[in-house]
Formats: sequence, C-alpha cells, structure tokens
Amino acid sequence: MTLRDTPQYDWTLIQISDTHLMDQEDLEFVRMNPEQSFHDVIQQIQLNHHHIDTLVHTGDLAQVPVERTYARYREYMQQQPFPFYQIPGNHDEASCFPFHQQEDRAHCIALGNWCLILLNSAVKGKVDGWVSQQQLEQLDQLLTTHPQQHIIVACHHHPFAMQSHWIDQHKLKNAEHLMDVLSRHDNVKIVLCGHVHQDSSNQWHNIQFLSTPSTSVQFKPHSENFALDEALPGYRALYLNDNGEFKTEVVRVKLKQPQINVEISGY
Ligand SMILES: [Zn+2]
Ligand SMILES: [Zn+2]
Repeated sequence: MTLRDTPQYDWTLIQISDTHLMDQEDLEFVRMNPEQSFHDVIQQIQLNHHHIDTLVHTGDLAQVPVERTYARYREYMQQQPFPFYQIPGNHDEASCFPFHQQEDRAHCIALGNWCLILLNSAVKGKVDGWVSQQQLEQLDQLLTTHPQQHIIVACHHHPFAMQSHWIDQHKLKNAEHLMDVLSRHDNVKIVLCGHVHQDSSNQWHNIQFLSTPSTSVQFKPHSENFALDEALPGYRALYLNDNGEFKTEVVRVKLKQPQINVEISGY
C-alpha cells in the first residue's frame, strides 16, 4: 500500500519540475525526448491519483525558451482536469513565459487552510538564483496576514546545498534572506524547489525543504562535477490535511522510450 491509496487527506498537490521542452516535440535534450517523458509523467499522475486539486511546475519548462515551446506546454496542460501553475527557472524566458507570472511578485494559491506561495528566483542571464527584495517583503506580508494558514513556499532554485559541487554553484544565492523571512514566522511547513533534477529532503526550523526529480533527465546526487543519473523521471505528490498535517512521496515513472546514455559530459 502506498500513500496514494490512503484517502484521508483533504488536498492533493502535485509538483512536477524541469521539463526542459524543446521548440519541436520530436527533438531530444541530452539524448532523451523530454516531450514524451513529460507526457508519460502526466499520464502516470492521472492514473495514480483519483483527484488532484492543483499542480505546480517549479521551473525550467523550456530548454528552448521560445513562444511555440510554451504554447505547446500550455495546450497540453489545458487538457488536464486540474488547475496548474508554474514558476520560471533559469532556462525560461520571462518575456514569453505563460500567463501572469512574468511579474516579479509573490503569488498566493489557496487550498483550504493551506496556501501555496510562488516565488520567482530566476535572474535574466544567470544560472544561479536570487529572490528579489520586493518578493521577500511580499512573502513576509503574506505570512503575517495569514498566520492561521499552513504555508508552502515554492521557487525554482535550491536554498539548501545538495553536497554536489557543480550544482551548488547554481543554488539560490540569497537563501539566507529567504531563511530570515521564514524564521520570523511559524506557519511555514514546506519549501519546494526544482533545478537540481533529484529528490532531496532537509529539515530546518520545523520546515521541510524538498527538491523533486525532473520529468526528463536526472542529475547524479553528491557528484563533484556534472554527471547524469540512471534514476527514472518522476514527480512529487503532497497530501495535505486542513489541520496542518501532511505527507509527501516522490513517484518515479517508467518511460515508453529507451534508457538514456548517462555517459555525457554536459548539457
Ligand atoms: Zn532544470
Ligand atoms: Zn534550473
């Protein structure tokens, strides 16, 4: 029996990340077709969960960040029976990023007693991340005005070091500014990120920091230099109770395309 079979939770939130879609659906990214693996993951999500309240994509939607890449993403997601949101990653292009999330402000999505706050950590022309002062002030304000809400904060870049030299150079560079805000409140339960193409979990100040696998290629955990991992793509499910309790699991998805060659030196 997996967590998915347990019906006692009020809300199901799904996180996907790092789809790295190309401008044409038949092109490969690091010798894998990211479009196909993205669709495989979404189809598996539909099979695994009877009901999904919201899906959040934590960035790097596109590897080739042009209008038609995002148009295809949006068209596919609009066929799904649940609302979906996304935050930009370092590979995304703000000027054609879907919907209203081009603005540099914190967005708040309510799920009963829970609230999902989306932050933009992508900085034009940079691989590493930074959350603007303006968004940190908005976050502080939201946490102050919703003290009874259980809060999930999501941004693309990882605030916690992954103990992987190359990827930690590209982390959220002002993580301490974010931690400063979070530590002033006691209603933040979870911080979600993408970017690292691997699953991780860290506890700090009663906050669970979680990263989630990519729907495409995976990076090798604890690697000094860039290296791919043979782990399957996946997604994260979060099961939330209105009383503030939650459970989470990472689900790996078997692909309908051959295993990738991990002997590659960069991307
Ligand atoms: Zn990525
Ligand atoms: Zn990234």
